[in-house]
Amino acid sequence: MRFLILSDIHANWEALEVVLNSAAGRYDKIVCCGDLIGYGPDPNRVVDWARSDVAYVIRGNHDKVVLGPEILQWFNPVAKTAALWTLNELTPENAGYLRQLPKGPLAVDHFQIVHGSPLDEDEYLLGAAEVAQAFAYLENSLTFFGHTHVQGGFALSRRVRIISGPRLKYKSAALDLGPDEVYLTNPGAVGQPRDGDPRAAYVLYDPEDRRIVYCRQEYDVRGVQAKILAAGLPDILADRLAVGQ
Ligand code: ZN
Repeated sequence: MRFLILSDIHANWEALEVVLNSAAGRYDKIVCCGDLIGYGPDPNRVVDWARSDVAYVIRGNHDKVVLGPEILQWFNPVAKTAALWTLNELTPENAGYLRQLPKGPLAVDHFQIVHGSPLDEDEYLLGAAEVAQAFAYLENSLTFFGHTHVQGGFALSRRVRIISGPRLKYKSAALDLGPDEVYLTNPGAVGQPRDGDPRAAYVLYDPEDRRIVYCRQEYDVRGVQAKILAAGLPDILADRLAVGQ
């Protein structure tokens, strides 16, 4: 069983479509670490796709807006504007689907998925302190997470080692899993990368090879930007897609 691991799609259909095309034939099941919606202009299209095509998915902080207005108090003004727009767009069926998404950690095969960290779905695993604490609570040697929109992650043997995705001129970078290391790894964001690389990010993982391949794919950023502006969403949500921040 080979997996396509995705996270943080954020209603960016164009990015998702190129990821699916470029990964075609190289996976058996799709896994998503949350944030199907928020920021982007195509929430229904992305949720329709998730409902039919994704085998394992957990909720992200943006997916939780369907649970009630109190969630919005944790959002910055831009995220809040986009969330209110999204709530207005979602069909009742898609809102219902998002409402029943499970909270991570969710066990998949012999690994697990979380949105933020294994302890807290809203926590950002960015710095050594949070990462070291998260490792202490892992029951699994391989965890995929999202939320930071930064592809790569961390490996723990005797010390924490930072894992990076491919450099800008490359399309992919492989990580062979060692027998004695524990991994917290991020497939990167499909729909709103924040690691300085504007290309859509994803991971291909084959448990038999014990190999994770971090991939990047260019997509029609301008097309999505035009849709974001036409929808009346904040300009900054279009601007940041061009720079991957
Ligand atoms: Zn996100």
